[in-house]
Amino acid sequence: MGISPMMQQYLDIKEKNPDSIIFFRLGDFYEMFYEQAELCSRELELTLTGKDCGEEKRAPMCGIPFHSVDSYIAKLVEKGYKVAICEQVEDPKQAKGLVKRDVVKIITPGTIIENQMLDEKANNYIANIFNLGRSYAISYTDISTGECYVTKTDEINGMYKVVDEVLKLRPKELVLEDSILSNNYIMENVVKRAGIYVSRYLKQDTEYINQMGLLSTQKFDLVEEKSLTLLLNYILDTQKNNSSQINKIIKYDLTAYMRLDVNTRRNLEITESNMEKTKKGSLLWVLDKTTTAMGSRKMKHWIENPLLDKNSIEDRLNAVEMLKNDLFNRKELISMLSEVRDAQRLSTKMVNAGVNARDMISLKNSFRVLPRIREIFSEAINLSGLKDKKYVTRLRDSIDELQDVYSLIDASISEEPPILITEGGIIKPGYNTDVDEYRRASTDGKNWILQLEAKEREETGIKGLKIGFNNVFGYYIEITKSNFKDIPEGRYVRKQTLTDKERFITPELKEMENKILGSQEKLVALEYKLFTEIREKVSLELVRIQQTADAIATLDVLCALAQVAEDNNYIRPEMSYSDEIEIIEGRHPVVERTIKDGTFIPNNTYLNNRDSCFHIITGPNMAGKSTYMRQVAVLTYMAQIGSFVPASSAKIGIVDRIFTRVGASDDLAAGESTFMVEMNELANILENATSRSLVILDEIGRGTSTYDGMAIAWATVEYIANKEKIGAKTLFATHYHELEQLEDKIEGVKNFSVAVKEKGEDVIFLRKIIPEPADESYGIYVAKLAGVPNIVVNRAKQILKDLEKDMTLKKAKSNDVKVITDSLQVDMFNYKLAEIGHMLDKIVLDELTAKDALDVLYKLKDKMNG
Ligand code: ATP
Repeated sequence: MGISPMMQQYLDIKEKNPDSIIFFRLGDFYEMFYEQAELCSRELELTLTGKDCGEEKRAPMCGIPFHSVDSYIAKLVEKGYKVAICEQVEDPKQAKGLVKRDVVKIITPGTIIENQMLDEKANNYIANIFNLGRSYAISYTDISTGECYVTKTDEINGMYKVVDEVLKLRPKELVLEDSILSNNYIMENVVKRAGIYVSRYLKQDTEYINQMGLLSTQKFDLVEEKSLTLLLNYILDTQKNNSSQINKIIKYDLTAYMRLDVNTRRNLEITESNMEKTKKGSLLWVLDKTTTAMGSRKMKHWIENPLLDKNSIEDRLNAVEMLKNDLFNRKELISMLSEVRDAQRLSTKMVNAGVNARDMISLKNSFRVLPRIREIFSEAINLSGLKDKKYVTRLRDSIDELQDVYSLIDASISEEPPILITEGGIIKPGYNTDVDEYRRASTDGKNWILQLEAKEREETGIKGLKIGFNNVFGYYIEITKSNFKDIPEGRYVRKQTLTDKERFITPELKEMENKILGSQEKLVALEYKLFTEIREKVSLELVRIQQTADAIATLDVLCALAQVAEDNNYIRPEMSYSDEIEIIEGRHPVVERTIKDGTFIPNNTYLNNRDSCFHIITGPNMAGKSTYMRQVAVLTYMAQIGSFVPASSAKIGIVDRIFTRVGASDDLAAGESTFMVEMNELANILENATSRSLVILDEIGRGTSTYDGMAIAWATVEYIANKEKIGAKTLFATHYHELEQLEDKIEGVKNFSVAVKEKGEDVIFLRKIIPEPADESYGIYVAKLAGVPNIVVNRAKQILKDLEKDMTLKKAKSNDVKVITDSLQVDMFNYKLAEIGHMLDKIVLDELTAKDALDVLYKLKDKMNG
């Protein structure tokens, strides 16, 4: 006996979709077979059974009722599987032989549009990276909102830029050609580490993508076009429809935004806290007081993409200032925004025929407030003293009132429709005469039945007589056994006998039943048809809806920034392209909101690229060095988003990048030691920082021996502070007090410390940054605070005393030359010797010509002097 035709059909489909779990629709169930059944039974805790498929053994099988499929798909996708939904694709009544089945949709982590599977406050991106020669492009889309972006770089090492962009976007899925991973160790490593789901895909067929007409509307570079083609082909292949929610591709310039590496985003706790990995405790948590889900997503986008162009920053700051100053209109706008639902995702659902009538009502209610929002916003613009109103006016004008769409839905869809669109009850009275007619027929019929019930009771004298309805028998007259004796002879026809009652019918009851059911059937079918027509009409307005939704999201973000500025007492930063950063009474936006003991102590900062470029900050652990340095970085960052900042005044010379090297974040998962990670981060900074960058260094060289570490720190200061090399504005917290002497040696280097007050045995942290070096580290005191046992603390004190005595002795002997500098030089000398030794070792004397030998000698001499 061979395999059954249906199972053959299943196997064929499975072969065409090798990396997906096939959900094979059979009646009211989706069924999985063979190893996929075993997998699903494991992952979804389903009972594994078997199905006779014509083979010797029964095929392993498990199933899911079709109506609860979404939650199972969500679970599988979350676990990193793809699910292919396979349905009947022809009418079974017309099918000859086996009904045709095919995959109607493949659900992957990056192609989800079902609301319950999405985070409403974050985009669900799917991205592609494409490489052509030296060029790299990255394209990404969120098919739940229809947003689609592309950008590229031709720079040397552009791949790193693209990798940073991917790590920022955190796409749920990367669609890549095999070659890009196999030729690219770094890319492969990064993708693996970030845990991004990768789908390998090849199709580069532009014909297919041209159907969408997206690539012809603008000019793209070849590498961008290839990237988009691959990505959109994949979307078409998985969605099996034309994904018409994507109808605009935004081409952006990577250089318009501040590039941020993953360390800096993590260290500054931009979107999640470092320790708990939650939104709470991050900058996003402080700033995201948006009202709508769309606004929340936009806020995240803004926060992840600080700007570099002064005018664009000022546009946002102007709008925030306008709304901050206009309390009345701001409050009103926020209250109106609270009526707006997620029109972006609802409209996407709509073009994919996924909306129900309730979603339509949500859209309608969102549109209802649009004219009022425009009106209030206009009023705010008119009232404001803004000199440049272009940005806000443009924003207002992008809000389409959409009253035609509102009126259509308002006239047609009932206020409280059912969830199912196949049960009727959707269309409002008065919208369609036929609907009204069928409804009347059905209500009239039902009234007639009520009257019949009363008449029968009266005529038979049976008080308990009832007329009921069920799907099998239709309408019936129900009489309990005790009343049988009162039924007049021949009045009713017996239909069904139950234990204690009988059900009867009469010809006239059946006649009315046909009328009622006939009109109800027609009504439901008509309502469904009208609903789909309305849905299609609204879908035609998709571009207007998307554009308005985007403008509303921006307005929401601006209102939130204004509200946060007021609530938290922030001020408008003064932006410029100068080399100065001047912050008076700055506060850390997150720490000031989470601090448990006491109030936050503000601090001043003044940095420029000339005489105050490199600040060496010393002071005890726990004194507040990290908080202070991050505060300077975060305030600069916030200003470049277009947000007000926590300070009493701030002048921010726009920076091109912010770099941080903070703490000892062990990357053990990647098999790298703390010191290795630290040095990697340092290498990245030294290679990429420019004089327009802001660099935060929280300890350098702590993961190795003291002299090694200090030598690295010393050389780092020299390199960064040197205007010929980097000359970046830098804050550097260190416990190597020896570095303080660099203030006298390198222009622009200045010493600062966090003030402390000694009180007997105790030390009080004043949290104030002062322009003088610290004289002690108070490490032992902090150890005591942390609960290190007294016996160890006391012994440490004793050792410290001995060491200090020893040092003083050596110092006295060394004729005023700092011992430490001396030993540092010895250390450096040893390095040189080691390197020279290494060079000598590599020479094969017998292969050396006279000229080579002379060259080597020159090199060795150079090394010695270098
Ligand atoms: P370490 O060298 O151990 O990293 P640190 O000097 O960098 O220490 P921080 O981590 O910045 O110290 O600060 C320690 C704690 O002090 C913070 O958790 C915070 O609660 C508090 N703190 C820091 N700065 C301030 C401030 N300006 N006002 C009030 N409290 C502060």
